[in-house]
Amino acid sequence: MLKINEARLLQDLHDLAQIGATPDGGVTRKAFSERDVEAREWLKQRILADQFKYHEDGAGNQSAILPSTDPQATQTLISGSHIDSVTNGGRFDGVLGILSALEVLRTLREAGLSRPVHLEAISFTDEEGHLLGEFGSLAFAGMLTPEKLANPRGGLKKLQEGMQRLGLSADSVASAKRDPASIAGYIELHVEQGARLEESNTDIGVVTAIVGIRSAWLTFHGRTAHAGTKPMHQRADALWGATDFMQQARQLIIDQFTPGVMNCGFIDAQPGSFNIVPAQVKLALEFRHRSEELLDEMQQQLFTLAQTAADQRNLTITIEPAINIPAAPMCETVITAIENAAESLDLKHKQLLSFAGHDAQTITQICPAAMIFVPSVDGISHNPKEYTKDQDVINGANTLLHTVLELIKRTSDE
Ligand SMILES: [Zn+2]
Repeated sequence: MLKINEARLLQDLHDLAQIGATPDGGVTRKAFSERDVEAREWLKQRILADQFKYHEDGAGNQSAILPSTDPQATQTLISGSHIDSVTNGGRFDGVLGILSALEVLRTLREAGLSRPVHLEAISFTDEEGHLLGEFGSLAFAGMLTPEKLANPRGGLKKLQEGMQRLGLSADSVASAKRDPASIAGYIELHVEQGARLEESNTDIGVVTAIVGIRSAWLTFHGRTAHAGTKPMHQRADALWGATDFMQQARQLIIDQFTPGVMNCGFIDAQPGSFNIVPAQVKLALEFRHRSEELLDEMQQQLFTLAQTAADQRNLTITIEPAINIPAAPMCETVITAIENAAESLDLKHKQLLSFAGHDAQTITQICPAAMIFVPSVDGISHNPKEYTKDQDVINGANTLLHTVLELIKRTSDE
């Protein structure tokens, strides 16, 4: 059975981890930074040393291309991830996906099999959103709109400087858009960043959907009063409404929406004093689930709960929706190919949701896509202690290899 070259992949992972290395074993390689530029140069040289065709598009996405053995081929099967990191991030997040994709290309070329489609290993720009989340994959999908470019979360000036550093412009970004008809599929191998695989002793996670994320600002309005003289039963305390809501919302999600999740990540009480009853409380609410239907239902129930909590405490409430990232179901065909691949390698696999965002959630909107997860020790990620065992790295890369082979087989059967 065909397998990747383990030592070669592990060496690549080790080498790239030296760029932006932190003293405790992690990396800091924020997109568009000097360290990112250095890592990009490393990847480019690695691809060229492998004698693949090197391609860099107008959004700074970097690719290795292995042309099809069929001169008439028009479609490309793509696999990849990203090499940027968060501040004090781990050495596996993203890197595992692109370096494994590169190793799969090397293995397939060496095996000398016929390939009915072109194969491409791609590294997307700024997945982590240091300046503009999923910059590269959004541009690739033709979804990096002028509005998004004008309002990056890292600030417009910084983005302009960063784009200049990489030699990018608004025009070049627009040119990165790919024709969906030219893409046979997209597969992304990634560390789980959670502990579900480890806890269930599973080798391979097959991602069925990347959860959607919605958020809203909830503001509870009451009345200020003297914290000593106002009798308790006469108070319109905005903080009471907000905290009632938080407790009840937690129970609602656990009881009715598991494995969906909710979070209140910020609270501000005004006027904010020991001796004044709070008149206004602003609460940041976020919730995630696998489908738009479930998100609609969650939203409706959470907002009703907030309204009820306000009514019961003699308050009014205003709700301003904030972020809305649609849920991204993965493609059944690719999911089945991953499961068949894991099966053929005798690896224990299970389906799960991704609660973190990935480039695949953008790419899935223009072509068949899915993701492979491998275990993260203790579920730690976005942390220098992020760790995935060598054997899991190898299992993931071999699963990726055989998923590609499964999909190639389907293409040639059609
Ligand atoms: Zn990642």
